[in-house]
Amino acid sequence: MISNNRLQAIDLKQTDQLFDRLKYSTFGSAVVALTMVLIVGPKSDQQLAIWSWFVAIFLVSFYRFFSSVVYQRLDDSAKLLENWRFRFKIGAYMSAVTWALPMWLFYPVGYPAYQVMMILGLAGIGGGAIAILSYEKSILVGFLSIMLVGIISRLLFLGGDLSYQLTILVTLYFVFLMKGGWDIGTSYAELLELKEDTREHNLTLLSATERVARIGYWQWDMQSDQLELSANLAAMCGEAERRVGLDHCIRNVHPDDRNRVQLAIASVDQTGEENSVEYRLKKPGSDSWIIMNQVIKKISDSSGQRFLLGTVQDISVIKSAEQKIFDMAYYDELTGLANRGHFREHLSEQVKHAVRNNLNMAILYIDLDGFKEINDTMGHDQGDIFLRHFSRLLKQQLREEDFLARLGGDEFCIILGDVKDSMSAAKTAHRCLALEQTSIQIQRQEIIPQMSIGIAMYPQDGADADTLLRSADAAMYAAKHQGKHHFAFYDAKMTEAASRRMELETELRKALQNQEFKLVYQPKVSIEQERISGVEALIRWIHPERGFIPPDEFIDTAERIGLINDIGEWVLDTACHQLQQWKSEGLELDMAINVSSSHFSSAGFIERIEQARKAFDIQPGELEIEITESVSRDPEQHIRVCKALHKKGIKVAIDDFGTGYSSLSVLKQLQVNTLKVDRAFIQNLPGDESSVLLVRAIVAMAVGLGFDVVAEGVETQEQAQFLRQLGSIYIQGYYFSRPVDAEQIPELTKTVFNISRFSEVG
Ligand code: C2E
Ligand code: CA
Ligand code: CA
Repeated sequence: MISNNRLQAIDLKQTDQLFDRLKYSTFGSAVVALTMVLIVGPKSDQQLAIWSWFVAIFLVSFYRFFSSVVYQRLDDSAKLLENWRFRFKIGAYMSAVTWALPMWLFYPVGYPAYQVMMILGLAGIGGGAIAILSYEKSILVGFLSIMLVGIISRLLFLGGDLSYQLTILVTLYFVFLMKGGWDIGTSYAELLELKEDTREHNLTLLSATERVARIGYWQWDMQSDQLELSANLAAMCGEAERRVGLDHCIRNVHPDDRNRVQLAIASVDQTGEENSVEYRLKKPGSDSWIIMNQVIKKISDSSGQRFLLGTVQDISVIKSAEQKIFDMAYYDELTGLANRGHFREHLSEQVKHAVRNNLNMAILYIDLDGFKEINDTMGHDQGDIFLRHFSRLLKQQLREEDFLARLGGDEFCIILGDVKDSMSAAKTAHRCLALEQTSIQIQRQEIIPQMSIGIAMYPQDGADADTLLRSADAAMYAAKHQGKHHFAFYDAKMTEAASRRMELETELRKALQNQEFKLVYQPKVSIEQERISGVEALIRWIHPERGFIPPDEFIDTAERIGLINDIGEWVLDTACHQLQQWKSEGLELDMAINVSSSHFSSAGFIERIEQARKAFDIQPGELEIEITESVSRDPEQHIRVCKALHKKGIKVAIDDFGTGYSSLSVLKQLQVNTLKVDRAFIQNLPGDESSVLLVRAIVAMAVGLGFDVVAEGVETQEQAQFLRQLGSIYIQGYYFSRPVDAEQIPELTKTVFNISRFSEVG
């Protein structure tokens, strides 16, 4: 499909060619006409006709010459092609008619040589016509036909051998001319089309490239102050016109950048050296700016005229990527607060500043309490949302000049530059702790942000950034141990505590090899049967110097230093071995094992369980895995393991149920068998009304959904009696038995645990 533009361009080119050639051809015609008049004239007695004809030829030639000159003077845009084509056609046909006329006016009958010469002259005119008229084939055919008809009609009218021979010859010759001219015209038209195609294609390609690469260019003709924009640049500037003044165009540049742009242009103009400048350009139809990079160069065209060429690229995307990289290096992506690196840099600066100006400063090290539970039970996405909310709330508690950073995970740090004394730091800590009055809503649950804060003061608690941070960390740790949601100032004893923690870590690593662990077993009693139905294996660390260390003091550390899986494997094997032994003695017991969440979701966990179970000849139903409500770092994997265990017939219990955020319906989907209601709910039974309501509701729902229910930490007869009315559940707690050594279990299996008759064991 030939586009309109393209057709016009081809038309214009053709018409240009026609009129361009015309100038020369009119001279040719005049010369041939004169020669003919001079040679043939004396042989004719029609002198008046001859000279009248000569005048006619002259007039027609003049008309054509004149229109050619006028046409060529016109601007392309002023050329009304249709009119001019018509004028050209009239001229051409008039010329054809005049050239046919001499055959009738003064054909030298009786002078064969002159007759032949005249025919040759006319044939020459016909041949010459090809050179011009081929650019418009229809005119060529019209022209040659008029001449041919004029010539052969006269020859046929005359008759005679010579005339007939000439008729044949002339006809053949003119047909040959038409065919030749036609072919030339066709080739030329094809050539023009091809040229236009290429040009159009290149333009399309160029403008597409400009658009895709967000580039554009302009040319500035310094003499006329005309700025010509490329189509894409005009679009980027929101200009409808592509020819504008420089001043007009610069209005789109950001006011702060205009001067720089003008200076850059002026410098290229004066020195002739290439220059580049970055500036902001108004985005059409909006209040935002795009960032442009412009390279300016002085060039001259083929006629030696010099002008400036500017290539412009929209580099907003590149710029925002650069900004993003900067932000990533300095800001925490989740909360938008400064990150650890940024914090360290800032702290060093602040310390230097404090040294120079003799100031006091404080840093507050904040660690969220119970964030792990939120993360584990509600998933990481929700944990992230919580952190975002929390950081915003925290920020609101601070002054403009205080510096807040997220050091990673749930740890934050505040730098208070220039504080009067420790009291001001304590006030800020208070304000942060007061956030517990504003709950954060996550998944329709109200979560109260609680935190432990450690405060270190400059210069007392550290004279450099590293020491200060360490002190604040130690103080935070102390606050956590004082019962959470507290703040604590640093004091030297904390360093000792920290080094004790380090010691514990090293010793814990050796404990497994040195066989310092052992298991004790706490019975689980069925209220209905008044018998032990199973035991829970609980680990103990018998430290060679420090003696007995309870699991609460080392399980977290073992998790942190990546030792928990090894310990877990040891527990699994030891407990299974013990159960095998009891079975060989004829005891019927279930064995519950505590498994940490990282171990639970580690690769090959199921295979390990199966391996131990088979090695010690244990039935799947005799084993129960206790996990806390946490859904672990990898909830998907957690779900997979739960379901796989269920499929193998191994039971899963949710430990400390009620302290996390999981719902019963989700647990049911996980195909969990048992819920162990946390001690915190049992503790205040039966006196505390809300505990009573809560435990009733939990047990009713859990039993209704088909879970086994275990009440943990039952210490008194009243608690046990209360629980008995709730139905057939299990009881675990000091009331019936503390965790005991393996040797004591056989004796306990014989005991009848009748609540009314059973007296509390100390
Ligand atoms: P847990 O799984 O909730 O275990 C019950 C804890 O409550 C045990 O403490 C037990 O001695 C204690 N307890 C039982 N009845 C009563 C009672 O009537 N009153 C009171 N006040 N406490 C009672 P323990 O043995 O110190 O273990 C603490 C926690 O350490 C366990 O809580 C469990 O989470 C973890 N743990 C223990 N052994 C292991 C183990 O082998 N592997 C793992 N991963 N964790 C373990
Ligand atoms: Ca447990
Ligand atoms: Ca528990």
